[in-house]
Amino acid sequence: MTSSAARTDTTDWMAVTDRYFMTTGRRFPVTIVRGSGSRLFDDAGKSYLDFLAGIAVVSLGHANPVVVNAIREEAENLILASNNFYTVPQARLARLLCELSGMERIYFQNGGAEANEVAFKLVRKWGKTQKAGAFEIISTENSFHGRTLGAVAATGTARYREPFEPLPGGFKFVPYGDIEALKAATTPLTCGILLECIQGEAGVLMPPAGYLKEVRRWCGEQNIALILDEVQTGIARTGKMFAFEQDGIQPDIMTLAKGMAGGVPVGAALCNKKLDVFEPGDHGSTFGGNNLSTGVAFAVISHIVESGLVAEVAEKGEYLLGKLRSLEDRYDFVKDARGVGLLCAIELDRPAASAVTQYGLEHGLIVSQVRDSILRLIPPLTVSKQEIDEAVEILDGALMSID
Ligand code: PLP
Repeated sequence: MTSSAARTDTTDWMAVTDRYFMTTGRRFPVTIVRGSGSRLFDDAGKSYLDFLAGIAVVSLGHANPVVVNAIREEAENLILASNNFYTVPQARLARLLCELSGMERIYFQNGGAEANEVAFKLVRKWGKTQKAGAFEIISTENSFHGRTLGAVAATGTARYREPFEPLPGGFKFVPYGDIEALKAATTPLTCGILLECIQGEAGVLMPPAGYLKEVRRWCGEQNIALILDEVQTGIARTGKMFAFEQDGIQPDIMTLAKGMAGGVPVGAALCNKKLDVFEPGDHGSTFGGNNLSTGVAFAVISHIVESGLVAEVAEKGEYLLGKLRSLEDRYDFVKDARGVGLLCAIELDRPAASAVTQYGLEHGLIVSQVRDSILRLIPPLTVSKQEIDEAVEILDGALMSID
């Protein structure tokens, strides 16, 4: 059944989902059937401003013609031929992303965790063959790198790890933003340092000024690969095409996913010449790099570049942050308003994020709670200032209601 047909039937699809789908997390008690621009619509026709955007995925908004036309074009022509062949959309996207990022090589996957697995394999092979068998990757506390076993092993957040221990080894954790701890944890066995430029899932935690630059310098000095997980921060989310540009640094490996193709699943790992160590047989993916996802990603990223959206995101981000800061000024219990570009958050001094989320839902705004006291705002990059005004007004009402 298509989403539009779902609107006319009376089946309780929430009950069907709860009966058949594995229980992995909580959902909003709403069945979404349609999206348009920055708005989602439920099965009763109620509209919601979408400040979640599929968790920073739907970069051009819902049902954007750029995405719809690219999907149609690729689907009508060829969805997948396999990586046993050369294909044009894959080649075009590979060139575009390498040229935009200054990286040398790329491999496509289907999402962020898979892209990170490529990064781990690359850096492990590099350590094994070119750094005397070094295999350890230093990651950070509160990080999030995905849900595969390897990505969970790399994630420094206990609740994601504990149910699955023992996890694959070779990862250790230091506090995010603490350069001295990172230096102290480095040994001759260290082959990589894995970081998010901003810890999105942890609550949009920003590193102290100069931290990323200093990590870059340390990696260079110690001959360690710097792996930046830009799955959430990449593709214009922070008002730069890649968040590492904010600090004027360059990673050795970078991973991307989420916002690449406006909602179509795709991910990528990119590396520089030094880390380009894969040989035939080292890696593969049945779906990774298919015509559909790479064709759509090419259309989305080209549009982002050509339409000037990157600079627009920076400007709208400042506008949004200004509005959030005014909430911080007005409500004592709003401890902090932070972010860059359209990756923003407010932190409360109490565990009231779920009450705010609930109020938002009732009043037509979707915001996500990333911790008991932290709300994250990650609208489509195409969101208008008027929609930002509307969202902040609802948020204001929510804060007033818990005051
Ligand atoms: N890395 C970061 C920084 C993320 O924020 C996420 C998802 O939230 C992932 C990796 C995992 O991506 P995926 O869910 O596409 O596997």
